[in-house]
Amino acid sequence: MSRDHDVIRFDGKRMALYAIKIAAIAAFLLWTNSGFLQRIALLQAQQRWVTLIGFVGLWGLSLAAVLIAAFQGRRWLRFFWAAVIGITTAVGFAYHRASGTDLGVLDALSLWNARHEATRAAEFYAADFYWLAVVAIVGILVFALPPLPRAPWAQRWLKRFALVPALPVVAIVTIVLAKEGGGSEALPTQFAPLSVGLVLGSKVAAAPLPHRRHVSWTWRGPFVGAAPRGATAPPDAAVAHAPAIRRIVLLIDESVRGDYIDWTPGNPFTPELARLKDRIVDFGPAASGGNCSHYSNAILRFAASQDGLGRKLLSTPTLWQYAKKAGFRTVFIDGQAGFNRNPGKLQNFMTAEEVRDIDGFYALDEKIAPPRLDDRLLDIVEQEIKSDKPVLIYANKNGAHFPYDEGYPKEATLFRPTMSEAGADTAQTRVDSFRNVVRWSVDRIFKRLFDEVSLKDTVIIYTSDHGQNLQPGRLSHCSVENPDPREGLVPLFVITDNEALRARLAKAAAESRGHGSHFAIVPTVLELLGFGHADIAKAFGPSLLDKSGRKTEFTSGDIFGLFAEPRRHPVDLGKEYLEPAALTVEKPSLSARGNGAGGVAVR
Ligand SMILES: [Zn+2]
Repeated sequence: MSRDHDVIRFDGKRMALYAIKIAAIAAFLLWTNSGFLQRIALLQAQQRWVTLIGFVGLWGLSLAAVLIAAFQGRRWLRFFWAAVIGITTAVGFAYHRASGTDLGVLDALSLWNARHEATRAAEFYAADFYWLAVVAIVGILVFALPPLPRAPWAQRWLKRFALVPALPVVAIVTIVLAKEGGGSEALPTQFAPLSVGLVLGSKVAAAPLPHRRHVSWTWRGPFVGAAPRGATAPPDAAVAHAPAIRRIVLLIDESVRGDYIDWTPGNPFTPELARLKDRIVDFGPAASGGNCSHYSNAILRFAASQDGLGRKLLSTPTLWQYAKKAGFRTVFIDGQAGFNRNPGKLQNFMTAEEVRDIDGFYALDEKIAPPRLDDRLLDIVEQEIKSDKPVLIYANKNGAHFPYDEGYPKEATLFRPTMSEAGADTAQTRVDSFRNVVRWSVDRIFKRLFDEVSLKDTVIIYTSDHGQNLQPGRLSHCSVENPDPREGLVPLFVITDNEALRARLAKAAAESRGHGSHFAIVPTVLELLGFGHADIAKAFGPSLLDKSGRKTEFTSGDIFGLFAEPRRHPVDLGKEYLEPAALTVEKPSLSARGNGAGGVAVR
């Protein structure tokens, strides 16, 4: 009788131990992972159902894998998995604490490149370094300590599945390779950093990867003249005494297609821009650098030249480094809505290493309603350029990211029926929704900018990261193979109050019609920062200040040459790309003014 009693008591104690161990594992997972729900919301908002199923499935597999690892009967194997999972988690967790972001391939590369510089590494981790040790120790203990199942059937099955913990690692490696470096966002910290490390390791083993260089050019002093440096004709007095450009703003919009900016006076789509045309030098429509946000932004921030893609792009000084050498304050504004962003603070291949060269870093609060984000961004620009110190601002607008109807308030609906009103995704509803969001977040914002922002000694270069394919059933952008040219079709224009400079820009724009390109932006910024024209022209080709006949093309997929050779797609900028649905737009608000027909041909 007493024996039975013992058995029951004994089992109760074991059950309690099991419960404690499972609770400890759950707590450890919750503590060391972040962004799971945000990633689900993003995939849902972007209607990426296949990715969503894969994401949830991979999490399911990973949970099974950690349990199999934690209850593995063979001690050496359990300790092995405990060490692998504990250390992997610690690295991912510490990097996330230090940078606010999941460890990606470029992050791993910057850490790898810093490995010989102990002080830099220590400086980088500093306060986060002891977290690395704490997480590793806690992780190993949680996974390695008993209890373990004693039932023979449980031991048998755990033995059969002993290698399952390797599956998430392999799966994530496969995803990162297939996505050419991406795809590991918000996946379990227990496995993802190891997969990213293995991918990078295989690349480093295949060929050494370069370090980012310092700026070797000599700074020539502030940009004052509108005439090219070293020009044979003597600059006229007005040009020679023009004030220096002290504020450079790169305003990078999101998903705004070049031919949806309409300069026809009185047009209903972008009426304010058409009205302000005299104060804007238009280089568009232009070809973007990439057809995906992260590649296009990396091309600009990493100061890529058109011929300098591939591994070379890992070694070029960033735009921030040039700006610092020229004595400019550097400011970055991430104005995108949380539902557009991957979880984490740093987007578009920005690493903790890059952030060290940014003096003012603004990531807009997720609580700001998406239609207000670009206004908030403009407030920050306005405030930053008030300062006396020369400043370079790189700002990512929220713009027209899919879903379009989230980006503007209901009362700003002018073109109908929209996707959300009709509950249908057709060529017409896409165009209507897109027209509405462009009017709200581009046209209206520029009216505010001209009304409120002092443009003294300022140059604003405006473009979008990529264009947009509005055909239903097709990817709107980021197609890797055979992308539609509309994915790389972007606006490109420059605003300045410096008359002589505007005249020079206007001349170059007229001479370069049909050759507008993202690759002309960086050399323009470098010249405005005060670097020598000859250095710039040699390394980057013509800027927006020069006559250009450059070939217009955009890239898709990996631009770093880590996973594929850069793919280039020519775009004929002289072609008409507007959809038939964009030529006939229903405008109830206009028909109310007596234009009886429901569908009005507007072009
Ligand atoms: Zn984008």
